[in-house]
Amino acid sequence: MTGERTSQRWDAVVVGGGLAGLACARDLCARGLRVRVLEAGDRVGGRMRTDRVAGCVVDRGFQVFNTAYPQVRGRLPLRELRLRPFTPGVLVHDGGRRLRFADPTRAPRQAWRGATGGLAGPRDLAALAALTGFDVLAPAALVRRPRDTSTRRALTAAGFSEGFVERFFRPFLSGVFLEEDLATSSRFFHLVWRSMARGTLCLPESGVGAVPESLASALPPGTVALESPVAALTDEGVLDGDGRTVPARAVVVATDAAAAARLEPGLTVPPHRTVTTYYHLASRSPLREPTLLTDTRRRFTNSVVLSEVHAGYAPRGYALIATSVLGDDSEGRERTTRTALAECYGTDTADWDLVTVRTVPGALPAMEPGLPLSRLTRVAAGRYVCGDHRATGSVQGALASGARAAREVAADLR
Ligand SMILES: Cc1cc2nc3c(=O)[nH]c(=O)nc-3n(C[C@H](O)[C@H](O)[C@H](O)COP(=O)(O)OP(=O)(O)OC[C@H]3O[C@@H](n4cnc5c(N)ncnc54)[C@H](O)[C@@H]3O)c2cc1C
Repeated sequence: MTGERTSQRWDAVVVGGGLAGLACARDLCARGLRVRVLEAGDRVGGRMRTDRVAGCVVDRGFQVFNTAYPQVRGRLPLRELRLRPFTPGVLVHDGGRRLRFADPTRAPRQAWRGATGGLAGPRDLAALAALTGFDVLAPAALVRRPRDTSTRRALTAAGFSEGFVERFFRPFLSGVFLEEDLATSSRFFHLVWRSMARGTLCLPESGVGAVPESLASALPPGTVALESPVAALTDEGVLDGDGRTVPARAVVVATDAAAAARLEPGLTVPPHRTVTTYYHLASRSPLREPTLLTDTRRRFTNSVVLSEVHAGYAPRGYALIATSVLGDDSEGRERTTRTALAECYGTDTADWDLVTVRTVPGALPAMEPGLPLSRLTRVAAGRYVCGDHRATGSVQGALASGARAAREVAADLR
């Protein structure tokens, strides 16, 4: 087949049907351009796809959906996603107790209870109220502006005690940044904190994959070709898995960072973070509420009873628990995690069934201080690269980068 050419020449071929590729394709189609999305997988969504395993709804790895991201508000039909909220705040397992910690600007009484449980002191509460108040109320440009440093330094500068950083921020943010040194950019932290405080953490009833599915369904029929891996980029367009050229005036690489670097040698991509999620099925719910549980000993980054978010996540009469740990799934790791869960939920976990394990090697790009929040997507004439690794490691970053690629392609084709 090598050397063959598909008949149609597209205005743009988008490589990858994750959030960035779908957002880019949608904006290009809205401008009247002829677009083809070539996706390697058998479904769209990439890192946000959802599968059914043994009657359970299993996301690519546990993640939450934030309604306050500007790109989410601007382009997704939130009502159609049938979103189910988490209870605001976090349960922190600390020295044999579970303490509820809430945002003092939203739930002052709960925050105070957390403080009296010994998690935070008055100084920490005051610092939290000031930080949250600023991040929520200040214009986004101002939140983005402060000199960038590590999140740990920014928290110390904001007046938090070492104990509070260690017992609240460090375990909680390790699940957001997928690193536990709080080395991530403080500018990114402030933007994420702003979105968390302004919006609702939730999940669609049918899994987080409903988000990319919704974006794909808004494209003209036939735009997305599944199971269509792109092998290489050429001067004319791209080479598909059968060695045929798919001609295009513009090619947008909207893959994860590692695949982008393979397709576009010489591209600089940031290091990545890896996370593993264990999905367990229990005959009884270990916690009768949809809330995030963290552990001050950081034996896992977070755990949640997904069937409390929506009963449909597990077969009738069962509870599905998702627990994430940083890095790979190694020998014995599931067993030690299960032991930690027994202590944190205060229940016997020996008879929990392991439904599946999801390890995502490039789950998030590292967001080191000093990295720009958005980067040009044009890398050569007619070649563009977008995705969360060109912006921020988040749903917002992936969608915004896809939108930026569409603007640059449209401007160049004009
Ligand atoms: C476990 C986990 C937890 C997360 N938690 C959160 C969270 O709580 N909040 C948040 O905002 N974000 C979170 N994220 C990040 C968020 O999911 C990603 O930032 C976003 O989905 C990235 O989208 P993308 O389009 O840039 O890349 P991807 O989703 O990686 O899409 C790339 C697509 O390209 C395809 N592809 C690759 N190579 C080829 C090829 N050669 N040819 C054709 N197609 C190809 C892939 O199959 C994939 O579909 C999390 C991610 C993970 C994995």
